[in-house]
Amino acid sequence: MARPPRPSTLNAKLAKNAKKDFSAVLAVFAFFALFLAVPAPRAQVNTTAITIVGGELADGTGAALRRANVRIVNDRIVGAGQDVKPLAGDTVIEAAGLVVAPGFIDIHNHSASELASEPAAASQVAQGITTVVLGPDGGSPWPIGEYLDERRRSPASVNVAVMVGHATVRRLIMRDDYKRTSTDAELARMTALVEQGMREGAVGLSSGLEYEVGGYADTHELVELAKAAARFHGIYMSHIRDEADKSFEALREAIAIGEQARIPVQISHIKLGTVGVWRRAAAAVALIENARKRGVDVTADCYPYNAWSSTITVLVPDKRYDHPPSVEKALADVGGAGNVLIVRHAAHPDYEFKTLDAVARSRGVTPVEQFIQIVRDGGAGVVCTSMVEDDIRAFYRQPWVMVGSDGGIGVRHPRGAGTFPKVLGRYVRDLQWITLPEAIRKMTSMPAERLQLRDRGRIAAGTIADLVLINPSTVIDRSTFSDPTALPIGIEKVFVAGELVWDSGKSVAISPRRSGRVIPTPN
Ligand SMILES: [Zn+2]
Repeated sequence: MARPPRPSTLNAKLAKNAKKDFSAVLAVFAFFALFLAVPAPRAQVNTTAITIVGGELADGTGAALRRANVRIVNDRIVGAGQDVKPLAGDTVIEAAGLVVAPGFIDIHNHSASELASEPAAASQVAQGITTVVLGPDGGSPWPIGEYLDERRRSPASVNVAVMVGHATVRRLIMRDDYKRTSTDAELARMTALVEQGMREGAVGLSSGLEYEVGGYADTHELVELAKAAARFHGIYMSHIRDEADKSFEALREAIAIGEQARIPVQISHIKLGTVGVWRRAAAAVALIENARKRGVDVTADCYPYNAWSSTITVLVPDKRYDHPPSVEKALADVGGAGNVLIVRHAAHPDYEFKTLDAVARSRGVTPVEQFIQIVRDGGAGVVCTSMVEDDIRAFYRQPWVMVGSDGGIGVRHPRGAGTFPKVLGRYVRDLQWITLPEAIRKMTSMPAERLQLRDRGRIAAGTIADLVLINPSTVIDRSTFSDPTALPIGIEKVFVAGELVWDSGKSVAISPRRSGRVIPTPN
């Protein structure tokens, strides 16, 4: 799908930055003047060509595997097929026994702040991820333009796209007085910020309605802000208001926002996270399918784990964290305090990687009392085992559900380092829930289409050479709940824009500049 032009963006920019643009015109003029003065070199000395031979191609569309060579010149794929042969001077990469696929696009990734300190993003490229979509769950870097400029100045190994966070703009306008619905005046100011973020290069609006700041917004506020994102051809991506007993109401709200704002909706990490809704995936699927039949463009992503990771307060939907009956119900809903693993608690690091139940017992208090104390001591990051595999399987089998990690660099949940290899190794090879070409489609062309990235997510002549070479018989995650950052195996090579960034278990940097780009990249 082509991204339509953005005339309003351009006009606004011209009006606002007339002075800046004039100097840009001068710079462009100077650039072309240079071309006139210096004759173009006859041969391109710095062309690099690579041909990957003998692999099985999963081209990203879901088509069956086929034997094909893939030739790359500089940052682009120039051919893929059995008749494609290496030319003299090409670097030849032998891929017999490997699957050659487009690089994975992770539509829900929490590496925004870590990319500055860990631009090699080893835990991400080791999974085959070549593009990360940052700013999910309502929280994004700000200002968007500044963040993207920083990524342009010091690129990472992975490509970067970013969403405008609803809670981020809500907090900017409402400051600490956010525990209420917004006024019309505040909403108008938030709308202006969403527009600003979109103008500066965001690909959509994200919300996190189970969280402190975003959760106080009413549907009207979200519809109005989603309309602003829609004016710039963005999507609305939501960690919906409830992933527990009220999952169905929350799904209905997300669909209504899409319908009223006329915007594509992406349900983040779709799940049924409490005893009361377990094994009701078929009903959730039917709800979404009905919306799709009415013409609402709803899709979802799903991570391959039966445990979520978030803040401990997310457990209590009514947000009465110090009200024992609310906490008691919350813990019962996830199957008990033994299912709640504390992974981060600044006040007592000794609680980390112990269950809430174990901590409570060691201190001689009830799990409810322990929960309340932890919240008083500043809260905690938890991993909560509260989903069933039957539901995960049902979601992955839907053609509109893609793979997303909800992970990122340093995330204390195994999904941060294991999501994509786990789907390929466990769900495709071992359990045969879905075929390999279909799984690859869910990791590549599906998110690319969602984000209107025309030249990524497929292997075809002219697309950008973001590629991954997978050993289908060995690929598997190795990250666990107690060792969440262990790297997977079986992702043999990863290319980003034609440059090798991961090779046989190690990150490599062939060029002094990392090849990840900010996308969408204007052509
Ligand atoms: Zn989330």
